[in-house]
Amino acid sequence: MYTFGDYLNMNDNACAVCARKVGKNSWLVHLSISGNILHPASDADAGQVSQGFWPVGSECAKKFDAGVLVKN
Ligand SMILES: [Zn+2]
Repeated sequence: MYTFGDYLNMNDNACAVCARKVGKNSWLVHLSISGNILHPASDADAGQVSQGFWPVGSECAKKFDAGVLVKN
């Protein structure tokens, strides 16, 4: 399972886990500039610099802990 602090890739318009193009039921993950998972609330990143929200496909979303992802 992916959880807070784990590292993911920042792929434009593609899943942060598998790099495939995401479909309609995609999710978003909040990443820092170094690519590790932050809390979805931007004011709760413990001083780490946000790099914004990156897409995760519906299949890969099943590999994340609850509370990490937000619906796109
Ligand atoms: Zn994926």
